[in-house]
Amino acid sequence: MTDLRELYQQVILDHNRSPRNFRQVPNANHTADGDNPLCGDRITVWVRVDGDVVDDIGFQGTGCAISQASASLMTTAVKGKPVADAERLFAAFHAMVTGAGEPDRATLGKLLAFAGVREFPARVKCANLPWHTLHAALRDTTEPVTTE
Ligand code: ZN
Repeated sequence: MTDLRELYQQVILDHNRSPRNFRQVPNANHTADGDNPLCGDRITVWVRVDGDVVDDIGFQGTGCAISQASASLMTTAVKGKPVADAERLFAAFHAMVTGAGEPDRATLGKLLAFAGVREFPARVKCANLPWHTLHAALRDTTEPVTTE
């Protein structure tokens, strides 16, 4: 279990160091801003949905390693997937980091890197922020997302 946990931490460190899809998306048709005042994390997510598929996704933001790595890993997890799958991942991720039962390993895949976050309540909002922001973007919520 220790080795597994170290591997997961490597994933988070790697995504924080070199975030994937850290860019605005040209012709994005969905966007939302997220704010986690507790930690100072801020994020903007851009999504281009084509048909029912997340054709392209990018983010920019500032904040702690957990929030930035979570955003980066999120973009790689949902890019090219149907919107319904992205929403399913959001639900599974939210359940995992808030400690609602056993994580859905088959659905979560690499996102299991964040399973340990549930042991650090102050970090749960950091990990969740990008997902809440994506969720808002897909639903065209006009209110800015805040974890408070
Ligand atoms: Zn944070």
